[in-house]
Amino acid sequence: MSLGRKIAQVERLARQLEPSAATRKKVRQEVVDYSEDFLEKLAKGKAYEAHSDRGLGLLKSPISDKPTPISKVLKLLKKSVDFPALNPASGGHLGYIPGGGVYYAALGDYMADVTNRYAGVFYAGPGAVRMENMLIRWVAGLVGYPISAGGNLTSGGSIANLIGICTARDAKGVTADRVKRSVIYLTRQAHHSVEKAIRIAGLKECIHRYVPMDESYRMDAGELKNLIEADMRNQLTPFLLVGSAGTTDTGSVDPLLEIGALARKHGLWFHVDAAYGGFFVLTREGKSKLKGMELSDSLVIDPHKGLFLPYGVGVVLVRNQKAMNATHYYQANYMQDALEAMEEPSPADLSPELTKHFRGLRMWLPLKLLGVRPFRACLEEKMLLAKYFHAEVQKLGFETGPPPELSVVTYRYVPSKGSADLFNKKLLKAVQEDGRVFISSTLLNGQFILRFACLSFRTHRETVDTLLSVLQREVKRLTR
Ligand SMILES: *Cc1c(COP(=O)(O)O)cnc(C)c1O
Repeated sequence: MSLGRKIAQVERLARQLEPSAATRKKVRQEVVDYSEDFLEKLAKGKAYEAHSDRGLGLLKSPISDKPTPISKVLKLLKKSVDFPALNPASGGHLGYIPGGGVYYAALGDYMADVTNRYAGVFYAGPGAVRMENMLIRWVAGLVGYPISAGGNLTSGGSIANLIGICTARDAKGVTADRVKRSVIYLTRQAHHSVEKAIRIAGLKECIHRYVPMDESYRMDAGELKNLIEADMRNQLTPFLLVGSAGTTDTGSVDPLLEIGALARKHGLWFHVDAAYGGFFVLTREGKSKLKGMELSDSLVIDPHKGLFLPYGVGVVLVRNQKAMNATHYYQANYMQDALEAMEEPSPADLSPELTKHFRGLRMWLPLKLLGVRPFRACLEEKMLLAKYFHAEVQKLGFETGPPPELSVVTYRYVPSKGSADLFNKKLLKAVQEDGRVFISSTLLNGQFILRFACLSFRTHRETVDTLLSVLQREVKRLTR
């Protein structure tokens, strides 16, 4: 076969990667119909349903040379992936930390993927990079950082924590020979992604001080002070303090002003994990509860939690952009000085990623189309619903934790006889079997505790009333 014929032959097949406008329209329409069907059924559908397929259907249809029509592909998706199990898009999701997925973000993703702008380096995608940095500066302004701070749109809070902690390590000069004498302060309620980041950053062998907490699971600043001072007396090097602005378990906010001041005084790097709680700063009440965040050296905040965006976007901020760059630059040392001359820093110089998804667009589009007000209202609604639940569940005879600081309530039913742990396990199972709402549990002081975590933009008062009525019904049944 001549070279010309060979090229023509493969070109014919290769061109299938460039569907015509008519083909695009047909496939797109089916995808849109599927999405609409999904969205329209959300309100009446279940938040949780045990799922027999568990994705196994996918394996029966292996990737091969054979094309599959879109209708069949969507059927497979529906059967094996989008069947509930836990449906994070449901407003009935009140477990863990609920996700969201505002619709306009999906359209932002669609356009980001169609245009495939390069968001890693300024000269390659100046608009895309400027958009990301503009969003970073907006978040920096919200939390009270100077706009000269560095920041990055990450894939989520875990990578954001990793970037913050690696930066802390380098900025405080914790080289390998110093790891074992360097001290990290945190509480047992710090998110596990913090411990994971510490390990990945090579800091596993640092001395960990788990600071005692008060009865609301907040770091005790007095205990922290004593620990730091004792460590200094013993010639150790306190270097990192991790505070939580909204813990996952109980929604508690550490006393950021007090512990931030201690970090400053003793020269520790102060890292605040506000992945869950940070965006409550948009509300008046949240802003006052989160006071002290602005004292941190690095901060993590998740738009795919508190801004209700679909999974896949977190934010890390570092007060000193140069320190962030020193840990993450990707070429030579001279880039560090070039940074200031550049119009905009490149995300690739501030994170482990080079090429990255153009995440800015999914965040920018909903904020532009709606303005900030609906987001603020939605966060306020979640805080009010948490207060409402806290009050109403007590009327049903439940014990509760303290009034919610943000939007998490802990509670349990203590039956007049028998094991409370066992009772609440049964109760949890019964709520999940009902399936309209989904709740999760945790262990606090060794006790089995139910959690109410309100952060889905689709959760409204009627959702909470559904949960309350299921709890009431099931307690009645179980105590009979
Ligand atoms: C969710 C969460 C994280 C981890 O973030 P991901 O986006 O899931 O990686 C870290 N810290 C807290 C407090 C969280 O709630």
